[in-house]
Amino acid sequence: MAPSWSFYARPGYTPGVEKPSEALGARILVVEDDREIAELIATYLRRDGAAVDLAASVAEAEAVSAIHGPDLVLLDLGLPGGDGLEFLRRFRSWSLAPVIIVSARESDEDKVAGLGLGADDFVSKPFSPRVLTARVRAQLRRASYPAQEADKLAFGPFVLDFDGGFVEKEGQRLALSRREFEVLSYLARHEGRSFGPEELYAAVWGLEHGDLSTVAVHIQRIRRKLEANPHEPRYLQTVPGSGYRFARTGA
Ligand code: CA
Repeated sequence: MAPSWSFYARPGYTPGVEKPSEALGARILVVEDDREIAELIATYLRRDGAAVDLAASVAEAEAVSAIHGPDLVLLDLGLPGGDGLEFLRRFRSWSLAPVIIVSARESDEDKVAGLGLGADDFVSKPFSPRVLTARVRAQLRRASYPAQEADKLAFGPFVLDFDGGFVEKEGQRLALSRREFEVLSYLARHEGRSFGPEELYAAVWGLEHGDLSTVAVHIQRIRRKLEANPHEPRYLQTVPGSGYRFARTGA
């Protein structure tokens, strides 16, 4: 049996004695369903100055990445409710940020599939946290954030700033609530795909069950702030029988 990650946390192993190196200054998404591993990774990355978001499933990873476009992703493959490779495929359709697969699965098939889908590196579990942070550093250096500057989306007279968390119209910020911004960001990140209220609710509110009419209420509010005619929306469209979708061109 492969040793578990806790090998690294046994007594005598003292995290925190190393001097923090140059700050990473990046936003990193850790997709990992083993909470202890996730927290171990997060501790190291935060100590190095990274902002860390955690996701424990493919659905959570999609929701979090849509809201905070990460500069780098650490991706487990065996996840509840889906394979990490599914996330990778969709993530690559809109982001160039480096993805490092961190997995106990190290068959050649998995590596080939991961690299074919656009993964940048592969770290096997169990791993040394120091090796992992070194790989993170190497990928961030290599990428040197060309994607970060472009983490905005222009449509019509609007600019959606994913990192800043706001939308501007001709330089003036729109008064969107945090949830309204999150709903809009999620749809904009997945431009052209339609989402039913259940999917949006799960992705944005992070809950499986609840009052789905909340979703429609938020859509209406966003339309009132965004659309010239909220009853004939150009950007935040209704797809009959399917849900809502964002269209940048305002078809
Ligand atoms: Ca796992």
